[in-house]
Amino acid sequence: MSTTTSPSPEACTNTYHDDLRLVRGEIDKCMKCGNCMAVCPVYSVDKDEMAVTRSKIAVAEAVLKGDLALDDPEVSAMVFNCLVCKSCMTNCPTKVGYDKIALGFRAALVRKNGLPWLKKLIFTGLKNPKFFDVAMKAGASMQGIAFKGDRKLKAISPRSPFAMVGGSFGFDADRKMPELTVKPLRDRVEEVVRPAEVKVKAAFFTGDSLNYFYPDAGMDLIEVLAENGVEVHIPKAQNCCGIPVLVHGDIDTARRLAMNNIDTFEATGCDYLVTGCGSCGGAWQHDYVDLLAGDPVYKVKAEYWAKRTYDISTFLTKVVAFRQPKGQVEAVVTYHDSCHLKKGMKVFAEPRAILKSIPGVTLKEMAAPDTCCGSGGSYVVSHYDTSAAIGKSKALDINQTGADTVSTGCPACMMQLLDNLSRHGQQQKVTHYISLLAESYRQEKATTA
Ligand code: SF4
Ligand code: SF4
Repeated sequence: MSTTTSPSPEACTNTYHDDLRLVRGEIDKCMKCGNCMAVCPVYSVDKDEMAVTRSKIAVAEAVLKGDLALDDPEVSAMVFNCLVCKSCMTNCPTKVGYDKIALGFRAALVRKNGLPWLKKLIFTGLKNPKFFDVAMKAGASMQGIAFKGDRKLKAISPRSPFAMVGGSFGFDADRKMPELTVKPLRDRVEEVVRPAEVKVKAAFFTGDSLNYFYPDAGMDLIEVLAENGVEVHIPKAQNCCGIPVLVHGDIDTARRLAMNNIDTFEATGCDYLVTGCGSCGGAWQHDYVDLLAGDPVYKVKAEYWAKRTYDISTFLTKVVAFRQPKGQVEAVVTYHDSCHLKKGMKVFAEPRAILKSIPGVTLKEMAAPDTCCGSGGSYVVSHYDTSAAIGKSKALDINQTGADTVSTGCPACMMQLLDNLSRHGQQQKVTHYISLLAESYRQEKATTA
C-alpha cells in the first residue's frame, strides 16, 4: 500500500501514550480478584503484594484521582518493577490491558520529568540508525578490551576490572553474553534473496538482536524461507522495532522508529512481513497500531502491516506450508515460550510443530514452558537480582526435562537463557528453533549430494 505520509511523530497524539486519562477504561475493568498474583514472575520472587498487577492498578487509580503524585518515587519504582511480560493479562477474567496502563504511566512520567541522561543518550543513538550501526560495529571491534571470549559457549564475559564495576547489575565475571558481531546480519546478505523458483515474496524484519547478536540465526531464517520458495527482502534502511524505547516511555522516538520501519517495508512491495523475534513481531502486530492510532495516515498503514505480520513459524505453517525436512538432527529439545511470542502474538503451537517435524528431534516439555525467563529487555539490568532469581527457576525447569538443547523464538530470551544456564552449571545448548530446521535442510542436502 502506498499513501502520502505524515510529516512527523508530533502529528500523532491522543493515545494513552499521550494522555494518561485514556487508561481509565482498563483500570475500571479490574475487580481486584488477585488472579494476576498467581502468574506474576516478579511476585513469585519478591513476594510483595505491591509487585502484583492489582496493587499497581490501585496505585494508578490513586494517581488519576490526584491522591498520589505521578512522580512519587514509590509510584515510579512500582511502575518500572514489571517485565511487561503480559502474564497477568492472560490470567485476568476481565481482560485488563495492563500493558497499556504500564506504558501509559511510563510515558506520563517521561512527559513530566524527562528521560534520565543515560537513557536519553542511548535512545538518541537509536533514533539515528546509521550512527547506531557505526557505534555497534565500533563496539564489536573493541569488545575484547572489556570482555573475554568463551569459545565453547560462543559467548563473552566481562574482564575482571569491568566485572567489579558491573557486578551490582549482573555484569560480573560469570556473566555470559553473545558476542557483538563485527559483521551484522544485514551486511551479510543482499537486500533481496531470490530462490530459483519464487512462490511468494516476504520482507524480513531482522530486529537489532538478530542483526547484531545472533546473525547466524538470522541467516538460518533467510535460508529456510528461500528453501521454501520465498523471495526474501531484507531492507537495509530498517531500524530498531522501538520496543526498547517504548517501554521506557520515550514515545517520540518510538513513533519515529515505527514510522521509518513502516515506510521502509512499504517500499519493498512485499505482501508479508516476517519476524524471528516475539518482541519485534508484537511491535508490528500491536504496538504500532496503538502508537500511531492518532495519525490518520499512519494509523491505516500500521493496521495494514499488523494483519500481514507473521512470526516465521506461523508464516511457514499457515502461509507457505513448509517442506517437511528430511535431514537428521539428533537432539533432545525443550521449547521455551517467549512471553511476547506466546502472550502477545499467540504463537506457541507452530514452533513446536516445526520442531516435531525434524527427524531425530525429540521434544520434551518443561513443567512451565511459558513462565517468563526474567529477561524483560533492560529489566535484567535494572532489577538484576529479581531477574536472576526468575532465570534460575527457568534453568532448573529446563534441567529437569533432560533435554540437551533449549530452543525459543526470541533472541532476548536466548541471551537470558545462555547466562542463567551457565551460572547454574548446566550444559544445554541455546538455539532459535529456526536454526534446527535450517540444520535439518542442510543435513538433507549433505547426504543427498
Ligand atoms: S486478574 Fe485482572 S481483574 Fe483480577 S486483580 Fe488482576 S488485573 Fe484485576
Ligand atoms: S506484566 Fe508480568 S511482571 Fe508485569 S505485573 Fe503483569 S505479570 Fe507481573
